[in-house]
Amino acid sequence: MTNPCLSCGACCANSRVVFDASEADDQPGGFVPSCLCAEYTDTLRIMEGTDYARPQCVALSGRVGEKVSCDIYASRPSPCRDFESHGLYGISNVACNDARRRHGLPPLPNPKP
Ligand code: SF4
Ligand code: SF4
Repeated sequence: MTNPCLSCGACCANSRVVFDASEADDQPGGFVPSCLCAEYTDTLRIMEGTDYARPQCVALSGRVGEKVSCDIYASRPSPCRDFESHGLYGISNVACNDARRRHGLPPLPNPKP
C-alpha cells in the first residue's frame, strides 16, 4: 500500500504543532532544529508557521493534497512522530481524516478488523 502521507500533508497544515522544549536542538539531547521553531511557553516550543489562522509548518515542502515531504523528517518533534495516518498499521486516527477533510481530501478507509 502506498503511504497516503506522501500525497497529503494535511496534518502539517492544520493546527499548532507544540512540543516539549527539551526536544529542540539548542537543548541538551534535543534534535528538532531550533531555527524552525519558536518559544510557545517557558517549557514548550511550536513549529514555525503553525500558529496562524491558516497554519502550515515551515518544514513542509510541496503542495498539500498533491506531493509533500517533511524537510526534517528524521528530526521531527514528537507530535509528528505520534500522529499516524488513519488505517495504517490497523490503527484508527479520526484526527487524520478530520485534517484531510479540511483540505478537501477524501477520507482514508477504516482499518480492517
Ligand atoms: S493527515 Fe493523515 S494521511 Fe495526511 S499526512 Fe497527516 S497522517 Fe498522513
Ligand atoms: S515537522 Fe514535519 S511532520 Fe511535523 S508538522 Fe512540520 S512538516 Fe509536518
